[in-house]
Amino acid sequence: MTTGVLTEAWNEAPRVRLLADRPVAPGGRYVLCWLQQALRARDNPVVDAAVRLGNALGLPVLVYHGVREDYPYASDRLHRFILGASVDLAAGCRERGLACVQHVDRAGRREKGLIHRLAAEAAAVVLEDQPTFVARWQAERVAARAKVAVLAVNAACLVPPALIGDDVRGRYGFLRRHEPERAAWSTWSDESADVAPYTGHLPFTPELLENCNLDDLVASLDIDHSLPVSEMHPPGRAAASERLARLVDEVLPVYAAARNDATRSESASGLSPYLHFGVLGPREIMAAVSGASAGGQHKQKFADELLGWREWFHYQATQLAAPERYDRVAGWARRTLADHAVDPRPNMETLTAMLAGETSDQTWNACQRQFLIDGWMHNNLRMYWAKRIIAMTASPEAAWATACYLNDRLSLDGRDPSTYGNIAAMFAGSPSDRERPIYGRVATRSDGSTRKREGGDAWLAASAIRPAPTPVLGDVPVDPYLTGEPAI
Ligand SMILES: Cc1cc2nc3c(=O)[nH]c(=O)nc-3n(C[C@H](O)[C@H](O)[C@H](O)COP(=O)(O)OP(=O)(O)OC[C@H]3O[C@@H](n4cnc5c(N)ncnc54)[C@H](O)[C@@H]3O)c2cc1C
Repeated sequence: MTTGVLTEAWNEAPRVRLLADRPVAPGGRYVLCWLQQALRARDNPVVDAAVRLGNALGLPVLVYHGVREDYPYASDRLHRFILGASVDLAAGCRERGLACVQHVDRAGRREKGLIHRLAAEAAAVVLEDQPTFVARWQAERVAARAKVAVLAVNAACLVPPALIGDDVRGRYGFLRRHEPERAAWSTWSDESADVAPYTGHLPFTPELLENCNLDDLVASLDIDHSLPVSEMHPPGRAAASERLARLVDEVLPVYAAARNDATRSESASGLSPYLHFGVLGPREIMAAVSGASAGGQHKQKFADELLGWREWFHYQATQLAAPERYDRVAGWARRTLADHAVDPRPNMETLTAMLAGETSDQTWNACQRQFLIDGWMHNNLRMYWAKRIIAMTASPEAAWATACYLNDRLSLDGRDPSTYGNIAAMFAGSPSDRERPIYGRVATRSDGSTRKREGGDAWLAASAIRPAPTPVLGDVPVDPYLTGEPAI
């Protein structure tokens, strides 16, 4: 069977990209479905593509998920969230009649090149099409080494970015193509596997994560233990479903009016960590939103954020060679920031003070403490937080690397197309009419939308006394934020 026939066999073809155009291996034992971030068993186009392919080839699907200690920013916070999702992924696969094997790489259980060894026994590999950071680099490496067909499938977006075309410039042009497609992509049904779950040879001994004490396992790893798990965002499918129910019951009924108020707990869904790690997909969230009793303006506002903004940044990332890099910031903005790079910077801060949320800016500290404590920050605060970093650091490039470092290391939803797209938007946006020191024509932002609100001062005071962890200071990795070279 040629790979051309393989992609046609998949009924959501625009989601699928041939990453390695090689034949299917005739003696392959299984179709390997490698998940890095889309950690859910249902409503998962990557799993469905693998099942469909397995059915066409008469082969079982082997779902694989593994975690290493050496990915950038590996910490208790990220590892525990990922492993919690992984346990539920395996249980969900079992319910679907699919084998799912897991591996946590560590001293005494090193499995060098495991993904390549698993691929070597596969007829074909189906993996995720993620446009940023580790997931993209690793997928490219597997595709370069595999001897069989490798298909990359988009699971992050409701509307596959490939449908939009390569010639869209601004967000309005994007929306003109995206909005009419939404209805057609809103429903799904999980593919049924025709072949019994794989029970054959494996090139390693899989973990039994569901029988593990995950806290103890995480504590035993050689990762950053100075960043604890987020109590606000517990790992796993049950916690994600609870957040989704809370969106429908408490957040959506007031969303359009409350969304910009960071002092109100019901002003945001808090779903972004679960979206980033694919515990929930946008189709399932939009189905819950559509069925909710909240008013149309609230549903529309939510759809504008989840689909109109999030999928715009995903689309942008697919169009860029290195979405994480400073040179993605609009040229006019980089020029005006460069013109002012020599301006005096009276609000400079050390990285130590910034990381700890102990700068001389009380509002900025409150923002940073959400990242530190909750592993998440309200959207309205993120805008002020990112803009201020430009004045707190020695150059625009240092500001970019610092913002990306803090966001990627501390926030559960970091390392995402929305991370770099939003930070780039804060470094550019609509040019201001006035030329200002340090910022040039890049618009600044005051903290008035939080501080001047009724109750704003009380909220800031309460933020300041929440006990926060003190993560150890790591070097700000200039790669890939400036040169685009992978840091691992
Ligand atoms: C400087 C800066 C950095 C950011 N970094 C990230 C990041 O690392 N990861 C991330 O997922 N989002 C990021 N955002 C976007 C946004 O702030 C978060 O998605 C949002 O705050 C997450 O909280 P929520 O789930 O409660 O959002 P809600 O208000 O409940 O929105 C629902 C969903 O819509 C999407 N969404 C909302 N606002 C945006 C937006 N501006 N851009 C893209 N998608 C959006 C998110 O998926 C979110 O979960 C950043 C924004 C800024 C200004």
